[in-house]
Amino acid sequence: MPITATPIPNLSDNYVWHLREESTGTVAIIDPAEAAPTARAIEALGGRLDMILLTHHHADHIGGVDELRARYGCPVIGYGDDAARLPKLDRAVREGDVVAFGAASARVIFVPGHTLGHIAYFIPEGPLLACGDTLFSLGCGRLFEGTPEQMFESLGKFSGLPDDTRVCCTHEYTESNLRYAEHVDSLTKTGGDNPALKIFGARVRALRAAGSPSVPSLLGDERGANPFLRAGNAAAFATLRQGKDNFR
Ligand SMILES: [Zn+2]
Repeated sequence: MPITATPIPNLSDNYVWHLREESTGTVAIIDPAEAAPTARAIEALGGRLDMILLTHHHADHIGGVDELRARYGCPVIGYGDDAARLPKLDRAVREGDVVAFGAASARVIFVPGHTLGHIAYFIPEGPLLACGDTLFSLGCGRLFEGTPEQMFESLGKFSGLPDDTRVCCTHEYTESNLRYAEHVDSLTKTGGDNPALKIFGARVRALRAAGSPSVPSLLGDERGANPFLRAGNAAAFATLRQGKDNFR
């Protein structure tokens, strides 16, 4: 049962993910920033919306929720312990909960760090990971509320997921992340010679030069090239994250 994943551009660099479970036609939207461009894309893709899944409370992830819920009459699902900062939830979920998605299922993974109430959804039938602002292609989310230790542990929760998992993150930050990843790689003993990063980088630059989204990427490729997934411990992760915050 394939899952089709389409990124809908919102705001300046957000992607709202349109996921369709093809055997039933069930459609989920992840983190709608804006109602109007999201609804236009939903209509162009068949006019169906069955559920809205939220990863965290930031305005650029929830701004379109109420209008889309009113228009399509669909339930909104998000993290129960952060309900006070989210739009009204029709279903509150927590770590390990499973959301039925047509003939597939979305498993909730609690991943604090970017915020303290951040969750991701893993759909094994994809396989696909909707990870919000936790893991980005070649990068990771800023630590607005959590500690480096929390984020390191959260990213570690993705370590058991298959290499062919599509990483559906919510921002087009990949080229900027690529420059930092190349900088980090240049400081290693092998001096900027990571072949996985070279292949990844060439693909990203070609996609962006063609005006195409750089995502979704594959988790296996991220494991080879993303410095934040290659950090061996929380202290190394903290140094990397701080370096990125100051990198121009
Ligand atoms: Zn955010």
